[in-house]
Amino acid sequence: MSEERESLNFLEHIIEEDLQTGYKKAQLRFRFPPEPNGYLHIGHASSICLNFGLGLRYGAPVNLRFDDTNPAKEEQEFVDAIKRDVEWLGYHWDTERYASDYFDQLYDWAVLLIKEGKAYIDSQSSEEMATQKGTPTEAGSASPFRNRAVEENLELFESMKAGKFEEGTHVLRAKIDMSSSNMLMRDPIMYRILHKAHHRTNTDWCIYPMYDWTHGESDYIEQVSHSFCTLEFAMHRDLYDWFLDQVYEENKMRPKQREFARRNLSHTVVSKRKLAKLVESGVVSSWDDPRMPTISGLRRRGYTPQSIRNFADTIGIAKRENLIDVSLLEFHVRDHLNKIAPRVMGVLNPLKVVLTNYPEGEEEWLEAENNPGDENAGSRKVPFSRELYIEQEDFKEEANRKFFRLKLGGEVRLKNGYIIKADSCTKDTNGNITEVQCTYDPKSKSGSGSEESLRKVKGTLHWVSVKHALEAEIRIYDRLFTDESPDTHKDKDFIDFVNPESLEVITGYLEPSLKNVQIEDRVQFQRLGYFCVDPDSTAEKIVFNKTVGLRDTWAKITEKG
Ligand code: ATP
Ligand code: MG
Repeated sequence: MSEERESLNFLEHIIEEDLQTGYKKAQLRFRFPPEPNGYLHIGHASSICLNFGLGLRYGAPVNLRFDDTNPAKEEQEFVDAIKRDVEWLGYHWDTERYASDYFDQLYDWAVLLIKEGKAYIDSQSSEEMATQKGTPTEAGSASPFRNRAVEENLELFESMKAGKFEEGTHVLRAKIDMSSSNMLMRDPIMYRILHKAHHRTNTDWCIYPMYDWTHGESDYIEQVSHSFCTLEFAMHRDLYDWFLDQVYEENKMRPKQREFARRNLSHTVVSKRKLAKLVESGVVSSWDDPRMPTISGLRRRGYTPQSIRNFADTIGIAKRENLIDVSLLEFHVRDHLNKIAPRVMGVLNPLKVVLTNYPEGEEEWLEAENNPGDENAGSRKVPFSRELYIEQEDFKEEANRKFFRLKLGGEVRLKNGYIIKADSCTKDTNGNITEVQCTYDPKSKSGSGSEESLRKVKGTLHWVSVKHALEAEIRIYDRLFTDESPDTHKDKDFIDFVNPESLEVITGYLEPSLKNVQIEDRVQFQRLGYFCVDPDSTAEKIVFNKTVGLRDTWAKITEKG
């Protein structure tokens, strides 16, 4: 885990205050409560790091609770993906819970509320109820069913449960206050009829509890001490407390809801609903498409759990929403991969170099360090021969003094190898350079200790031996959206800002040491960036995803405008 911070965030201050005014440390308990209606995204990482981080700081249990009250949208696939992602981030939950485990208890409590005259069955259409809701400045009006007799309410509620009614015919509402300044307190719905099979309770139920009725009561059942959620629930806190008042018993832990700001990331959307739209409309291939801001997409792209945790810790917890630039996330993955990723050579836009003074048919295996910054990383051998690939952009026939790469008459060092000099080049009928003829200096071999091996030349290029090169599919990504905040435009849908060029697929030529890489292996292609082995790889063809470049080119682009 990352280093302990010295200052406390505002939620930690709340906990510290509670500990001073009577809470015992042993009573602290937290939860992370995703709805299994999609995959977790980078915004969730903030909530996960917050809740599980608090668990670690206070030695308190943290439950993973699935808020599964809407069978229309929830699936086992999402439950599995969420568990996998939380574990992958490196966190351990105390117990795995489901709001659906509490359906019986919630039903019994609802019956209790009916008996106490605090809940009633409303048999109006949702449109009728909406017109009675009033406005923030105008009180609502009572439903004609508001004063239904307790017996009749009980009977109807039971019939709802027994499946005797169609969807939309009746709802159970809490009887609170139709003139409350908080619209959510104007007799909120507690149950609705849904004739849908649930991924866990199957067809046991055809009435399902609403979020507000479920969440606080679930916290209470689990004896969660602090229930942290995002700001959109701030207005729900009154209701959370009202529902708790109805069931709370002395001497039990009374959960406390507090809110923090959602985290938004630039050039993407962080909302399960919107991400689902990208998957359904085929803009991306799947929830774990490497362009997605989902945890599984980031994993596939090559992100490490630590880089995501470091990012979440750096941005911390805030009271107000703001936009975090995606380059900060990229900074963290680059920073971590720089420490751990082995260095290898691969050429993505090949230009053939022929060493005219290197014997035909000969080859040698040169020693190459796996990570010059890490002496424990060891070394490997790379083959060198008469025909090599370098990057097209590393050669120019003519160039000014600032071009430290290869030009006619000029010299460069081939990484881990020899100094070469470009003598001539060949072009096709369109004038494109197809081959460069060079001579190599046999005495300049890196690491040989000779005077020539220490000779300094301005440029060092990466390369691969043509006949040993491994062909691989390389997927290169750009921002998924061309706009910084695609989902904040009033007149346009976020889909309108999808970048049509967010994926480029090319063939790369890699050094043969990469033959046996495994899925999710991460490497640095020297001078190019960090790359990760994609699960689409087969025995015949390795597929690499570009995680991130070596430098923050984005900042430069945006500076230029
Ligand atoms: P959607 O993204 O579709 O709106 P959601 O954010 O409501 O889904 P939930 O599964 O309900 O996702 O969220 C689980 C927990 O993660 C909640 O406590 C929620 O407040 C928190 N959370 C969700 N999105 C973010 C975000 N962008 N930043 C911080 N916390 C978040
Ligand atoms: Mg939500």
